[in-house]
Amino acid sequence: MESRKAELLERIESDSEVLLDFFRRFIRCPSPNPPGDTREAAGHIRQLLMRHGVDCRVIAPNEIMPNIVATFDAAKPGRHLALNGHIDVFPVGDGEGWTRDPWGGELVDGRIWGRGACDMKCGTTASIFTFLYLRELRDELHGRLTLSAVSDEETFGPYGARYLFENHPEVFGDCCLNGEPSSPWTLRFGEKGPLWLEFTVRTKGAHGAYTHASKSATGVAAKIIGELARKAGGYPGARGQQPRRSSRSRCCRHRSGLRCGCLSNYPPRHGKSGRHPRRAQGEHGRISVHFRGGHPRAKRARCAADPG
Ligand SMILES: [Zn+2]
Repeated sequence: MESRKAELLERIESDSEVLLDFFRRFIRCPSPNPPGDTREAAGHIRQLLMRHGVDCRVIAPNEIMPNIVATFDAAKPGRHLALNGHIDVFPVGDGEGWTRDPWGGELVDGRIWGRGACDMKCGTTASIFTFLYLRELRDELHGRLTLSAVSDEETFGPYGARYLFENHPEVFGDCCLNGEPSSPWTLRFGEKGPLWLEFTVRTKGAHGAYTHASKSATGVAAKIIGELARKAGGYPGARGQQPRRSSRSRCCRHRSGLRCGCLSNYPPRHGKSGRHPRRAQGEHGRISVHFRGGHPRAKRARCAADPG
């Protein structure tokens, strides 16, 4: 087995130009989500699989968001490993702040630039080629391997992984490996527990000349956010702190929205933070926070040990 591993590593090394070429062309197939049209990028994957004689299924509950699924049974019985990666990427906005063409896939000083270079066309490329390499060795392997390249991840997957999980659960097998970005030295087990939280702060408010008359909802909200951040702790995987081999990340926190007040000269008496509307309310400086979990990726994680 060790010699087989060495052979595979050599093969990857000698194929590096092929892998890089596929990856850079993958970046050049824009797939920002929203709007989530991944047809060109999915076509890029399909072409590669077809060139290698791989039959793949296209499952597209939304016609602009195809999911590519390929599988093979090895010669000997065994468990079912799934490789999963997404095709869509976050949008690039109006292009401001980009120092390189986000859809250029440029290779500069040993680095590839572009939207999705990190999250996660690189990881999806790795999964695709892993599938192809292992498929060549299927006569000496055990079990089954399935590759799923999904769309609609960046908007929570109603037509992507979530759809597959709910309608084609066989795609995720006994264990799922996902190449979402971390570092070359870090493996993450399971999914971070999702906890969607929204809170509303209400104070009685006051005129801008009488700031002593009421607490600012903005200030209260800022304190709550700071306290939550302290309780959550830092990012276990932050640069310079990474464990070399594995990480069970406890928390990934991000505040995604804050709306406060109505006028610049009027201390806000109403501040709202959060992402997904849940029941939450507070009045007259009393603050209520309601928690609720249940993100679909959590279900996927519980059942498929998917870290991505
Ligand atoms: Zn991702």
